Amino acid sequence: MDCLFCAIANGEIPSTKVYEDDQILAFRDIDPQAPEHILIIPKQHIKWAYDITPENAGVVAHIFATIPRIAKDLGIEDGFRIVNNCGDIAGQSVKHLHFHLMAGRPFGWPAG
Ligand code: AMP
Ligand code: ZN
Repeated sequence: MDCLFCAIANGEIPSTKVYEDDQILAFRDIDPQAPEHILIIPKQHIKWAYDITPENAGVVAHIFATIPRIAKDLGIEDGFRIVNNCGDIAGQSVKHLHFHLMAGRPFGWPAG
């Protein structure tokens, strides 16, 4: 399977890592849309949020349980935005589940 984020997860393609454990990886977005813009991915390939199931939801919970630690390490405890784009209509360009963790500027609402 040809998947950019699988290649990043297994080290075939370099990334600027900010957190890693056996289940997940967090790295800097190559085209940041905020002063801090991190992508958090499961190492296992899940195509998109529509494929989250009771069987694989544990890794998603683990991502969210790790976000406070990443936020503390980055010094963005004052607030941040977490974004998931699911499908082309939402702007998902990489078909491997990922959460954008963005901070360092005000964010408007509703988004986009
Ligand atoms: P999305 O558009 O929600 O699918 O998000 C994909 C994100 O991946 C975009 O913000 C891209 O800037 C980012 N991206 C693409 N290639 C790389 C890469 N090699 N390293 C880091 N981030 C990347
Ligand atoms: Zn993948």
